[in-house]
Amino acid sequence: MTTKLLTVEEALAKVLDQITPLGTERVDLLNTLGRVIREDIKAPMDVPLTANSAMDGFAVKAEDLENAFSDNPIKLKVIEDLPAGYLAKSKVERGQAIRIMTGATIPEGANAVVMVEVTKKADNDFVEVFESVKVGQHIRPRGEDLQKGDLLIKNGTMINAAEIGILASVQRPFVKVSRSPVVAILSTGDELVEIEEAVLPGKVVNSNSYSLAALVKASGGIPIVQSIARDNEQEIRSTIKASLAADFVISSGGVSVGDYDYVKPVLDSLGAELKFWRVSMKPGKPIAFCLLSGKPYFGLPGNTVSSMLSFLLFVKPALRKAMNMLPPWTMPIIDVVLDSRAVSKGDRRTYLRASLRYWEGKFYARLAPRQGSGVSSSMLGANALVILEEGVTELKEGSQAKAMIIDNIF
Ligand code: AMP
Ligand code: MG
Repeated sequence: MTTKLLTVEEALAKVLDQITPLGTERVDLLNTLGRVIREDIKAPMDVPLTANSAMDGFAVKAEDLENAFSDNPIKLKVIEDLPAGYLAKSKVERGQAIRIMTGATIPEGANAVVMVEVTKKADNDFVEVFESVKVGQHIRPRGEDLQKGDLLIKNGTMINAAEIGILASVQRPFVKVSRSPVVAILSTGDELVEIEEAVLPGKVVNSNSYSLAALVKASGGIPIVQSIARDNEQEIRSTIKASLAADFVISSGGVSVGDYDYVKPVLDSLGAELKFWRVSMKPGKPIAFCLLSGKPYFGLPGNTVSSMLSFLLFVKPALRKAMNMLPPWTMPIIDVVLDSRAVSKGDRRTYLRASLRYWEGKFYARLAPRQGSGVSSSMLGANALVILEEGVTELKEGSQAKAMIIDNIF
């Protein structure tokens, strides 16, 4: 029986359909880095609250200096010294100036600031000014940065250094953010040994639990790594059940059509609502997605590359939606030039691991030399996936291709 496989987009839509936002918590400001804000932040007041000087110089009346030139300085009486953080005691009248520092509030009566560089100190508290100024010159107006009521940070924004700065400036020591999704990770396989165990012939170290846990962390989640479930129904069932305290469950392995692939039958027996089981992609065709006791469950394939890739394509966007991040939840796709030839069987959309380099306005993609779904080393340094659509068997070196960005590109 051949049923048409779902495309990646169709499968992802089915995943996202099931995802609802997690709850919120209040977190102290410095610990909000990388978290998703769950409130709109509006400016509670104008910033700066008063017009202030953008320069060290003299607060003046522009009309006093209309005829000031380099060969015709105009003398003003300096009536006060005004550092930042204080208000002037006196008002600037015709013929007067107040010495002012950057950031200090513009005194009453002044309508411009002349830079100290175009002035010269004169006797008896006078200053000579060698240039005219325009009204408003070197004055930062009230509200130049933020105006009261401005929407500064939108609900759903990921908090970065700039957001933290703004939150501090609007005096928010605590911020409402999304709770971090707790993600249970379980690996299945009789061949698997734990990280500290001897690797006898036929055995493989359970690396997926680690790479997936790292991806969960990098996506803003909290991984809970379960011990290895052997390839039998009882162990898989009890590990899956124990995982259901989490918000999401990810398993790796045992989801294909081999004789020892028990994940799907166990999910069926637990009454899971299966949404899909296979997706037209390579690597990573066998992927089960279901709701189990209301929790999203991802049965990822066991091959090291397939499990990471299917995480990036399906689980990461789901976590982003669950944290109530603003869309898009998927990673961007850009145009690249291939540094080497790309090949595929053409039967399914193929994702090839590549590292990007930027040169004179273009991104160049260097493909990992070996692209097998179990070649973990092909993920080292890979920050992009070159996409060969179904039916495409070859793209020549130097040709243009689409690539999905999966990690930092600098
Ligand atoms: P499976 O999907 O269970 O058929 O596994 C496919 C391949 O992935 C096999 O070669 C497994 O040994 C390997 N594999 C499965 N689980 C893991 C894991 N947790 N860590 C590393 N390799 C794994
Ligand atoms: Mg297996």
